Amino acid sequence: MRRKIAILGATGSIGKSTLDLVERSPERFEVVAVTAASNSRGLADIARRTGAKLAVIADEGRLADLREQLAGSSCRGETGTAALNEAATADVDLVIAAIVGCAGLEPVMAAVEAGKTIALANKEALVTAGALMIDATVRHGATLLPIDSEHNAIFQCLAGSCIEDVAGIVLTASGGPFRTASAEFMHAASPTEAVAHPNWSMGAKISVDSATLMNKGLELIEASYLFALPSDRIDIVVHPQSVIHSLVEFVDGSVLAQLGAPDMRIPIAYALAWPRRMETPAERLNLAAIARLDFEAPDPERFPALRLAREALEAGGAAPVVLNAANEVAVARFLAGGVGFTDIARMVEKALETNDLAAPRSIGDVLEIDRSTRERVEAAITVSYAG
Ligand code: NDP
Repeated sequence: MRRKIAILGATGSIGKSTLDLVERSPERFEVVAVTAASNSRGLADIARRTGAKLAVIADEGRLADLREQLAGSSCRGETGTAALNEAATADVDLVIAAIVGCAGLEPVMAAVEAGKTIALANKEALVTAGALMIDATVRHGATLLPIDSEHNAIFQCLAGSCIEDVAGIVLTASGGPFRTASAEFMHAASPTEAVAHPNWSMGAKISVDSATLMNKGLELIEASYLFALPSDRIDIVVHPQSVIHSLVEFVDGSVLAQLGAPDMRIPIAYALAWPRRMETPAERLNLAAIARLDFEAPDPERFPALRLAREALEAGGAAPVVLNAANEVAVARFLAGGVGFTDIARMVEKALETNDLAAPRSIGDVLEIDRSTRERVEAAITVSYAG
């Protein structure tokens, strides 16, 4: 029996890596539904190649083009929230959640509420709705399989262990393109410099997050919810080679790590084949050629985003939503050339300082906090950069 899958965010970096694996094993996987934001041509091409039955484009303005591209195929082209949720709750064995940002929250929650098995790359969904999503996962009998390489590594290291025996976890960070850069260089850094990640090839938003280390901050929050661990039991260490993807320390002092080439197809394959494993074309590790593995503490002065994320996790309530929304706005503005690189963390800090919103009690509350924070940060940028 082929495993049926839906890919939310099929045209992105994670979506493409997933498709690469799936298309190498057509006897094992059947793609049923695929989605994108506005890339109607790319989406139609994926739908035709895979034989998907449903293709959903978030941008209504691209629907006509999507349908034109799909003409003559057996794939239905749709748009809108209901269609996106239909893709997320389609009759599949696995939903790949690879939309970027809080935009992925509603479909992920729809999949959770439908009791699906979800391979989660969309960390912002868990950062913004953590407790609500974990609670719903338990209530609806859904399963979350982490695709984020660090969380996937922890998940692999935990296999066969009792969570009570875990003393803590260590998330590794490559340090990003500015690991050794001066504060002055970072202040003037361009979007091209910020997205030039030394080890991983990823979408633009997560690449900027990796450069500010906000990505590690979001992962800290993600890990806290996924593995039910408080902030003080999650450590971050910079490991420039990106060979060790994360570690688990047990109460007896043993530490288990998961290693592999920095290739997202490895954690994606783990989720695709779970609870078994499957072959991937990823490069094999040659430890003698790598020769050494280095570790260092992150620099809190040049990378304040990490502290902000930890503070937001510890504050709880609306803070993680505010952190994420402010970061999404600031990163988008930075990528568009509107604000400087070091302004990103500054804007997030300001949004957190001025946050007086109540803790979200529903996904509707999360979306409202997200919306109002975006409005607030956009307004602050307009004032700061006016003239
Ligand atoms: P990309 O930007 O490459 O792709 C994002 C995907 O989401 C695209 O298919 C895009 O469609 C779609 N999308 C964007 N905005 C919306 C929206 N508003 N509504 C519906 N669909 C939307 O991102 P990545 O693949 O890099 O990242 C995806 C997620 O996975 C992120 O949360 C990221 O943090 C996480 N992740 C990524 C890793 C990586 O290696 N890339 C590693 C670990 C985690 P379109 O193409 O039309 O714009």
